[in-house]
Amino acid sequence: MSSEDPRTIRWSNWAGNEQVAPQRLHVARSVEDAQAVVASAAGEGLKVRVAGSGHSHYRLVPTDDVLLDMSALGGVVGMEQGHAHGGVATLRASTTIAALGRPLRELGLAFHNQGDIDRQSIAGAIATGTHGTGLNLQSLSAMVVGLRLINASGELIRINASSNPELLDVARLNLGALGVVTEVEMSLVNAYRLSDSVSIESYGDLRPTIAERAEQHRHFEFFWYPQHDKAMIKTIDDTDGDPVYPTGEEGSRVGWSHEVLPSHRPHLHTEMEYSVPLDESLACLDALRDLLHRDFPTLLWPVEYRTLASDDVWLSTAYQRPTATISVHQGIDLPADQLFAACENVFRDFDGRPHWGKVHGLGKDELAAVHPRWSDWWQLRNQFDPHGTFLNERLSGWAGL
Ligand SMILES: Cc1cc2nc3c(=O)[nH]c(=O)nc-3n(C[C@H](O)[C@H](O)[C@H](O)COP(=O)(O)OP(=O)(O)OC[C@H]3O[C@@H](n4cnc5c(N)ncnc54)[C@H](O)[C@@H]3O)c2cc1C
Repeated sequence: MSSEDPRTIRWSNWAGNEQVAPQRLHVARSVEDAQAVVASAAGEGLKVRVAGSGHSHYRLVPTDDVLLDMSALGGVVGMEQGHAHGGVATLRASTTIAALGRPLRELGLAFHNQGDIDRQSIAGAIATGTHGTGLNLQSLSAMVVGLRLINASGELIRINASSNPELLDVARLNLGALGVVTEVEMSLVNAYRLSDSVSIESYGDLRPTIAERAEQHRHFEFFWYPQHDKAMIKTIDDTDGDPVYPTGEEGSRVGWSHEVLPSHRPHLHTEMEYSVPLDESLACLDALRDLLHRDFPTLLWPVEYRTLASDDVWLSTAYQRPTATISVHQGIDLPADQLFAACENVFRDFDGRPHWGKVHGLGKDELAAVHPRWSDWWQLRNQFDPHGTFLNERLSGWAGL
């Protein structure tokens, strides 16, 4: 957008570094309303993107054409009864994970895992393969068993094992590129309680214990601070203890999973995250540590290490491989380009796959090289939306339409 552009910025992401002034920003008041907007935009040859909670660092949401805000349409639609270990709930796609915690708990259900924060919409989270930490815990996308979405004709269609089943592999992690998701059916577990603990250790003490600790705890992660070579280690485990209110600081919480898993992230930052094979993750960390100590010795922000179970979601960063995710952060007012470019070289040496919602510099060929189902995914997506109505500029470059 030039400084003379008469339009004003009408959307920005959480960190404020991705902004756009679309021709139309439409806040949908009903699914029928959104269907009409999509049909009319597609008829005019305009692109349509949906904004979730804006927590992606990558330029996924922005479009110059039509931006849909579905955030007024939230809540739990219903659940299937009769599952011994949890159940399948139908959730309005734009509901935030935070807003789902309590209603699901009242139904006796919970997400098997969540990310570091709970501000994301469920549609946004599954669009990018959002995950938490846990050796045996998959991403939220892997829990999707069905969706409803608006296609480019404005029709509402269902995708699950019996309706349009061929699209399920594309839809579970969809980059917002298949249509406007209105409902998500997710496999959930019985509600459970957790307690967390936090400690600080030198990296030298932590390093030899990482694999063992990841095995010992339901959730294990750490934030390593390169300048001080120390790590904040966080573990979370099942408990039978009664929830303690008011909920305390991180490291002293006992409560339901949705009360203990999320953290606060008040400081605006940008972030690069790569998934690397679990059994090479410590070597990758060592290489990253050498790089940061040598070339970025004043970096204040931490490197985060988490684990993620293998899955069969086509564009998942954990597709058919046990995974560790490693993230590099930088304050939003500080220079990040050189830092991220140098870290990306290290991640790529370890066959890394970038998080879809975080900063990366890979193009189509490089992404195809690390995602075995890349061309299958695009072939089905392009058949479903041949005019690219649901692609923004960045995604159009990958589509090959
Ligand atoms: C502070 C912070 C902490 C984070 N922690 C984690 C973490 O622990 N683990 C992790 O994996 N990631 C994490 N992320 C990344 C974040 O989870 C993802 O970027 C996620 O996609 C954000 O969800 P959102 O609702 O904000 O979606 P947005 O960023 O708004 O959108 C993401 C994508 O979803 C699409 N979309 C949204 N709604 C719809 C819809 N209804 N229909 C179709 N497409 C839709 C958008 O078009 C876009 O393509 C974090 C990000 C931040 C800023």
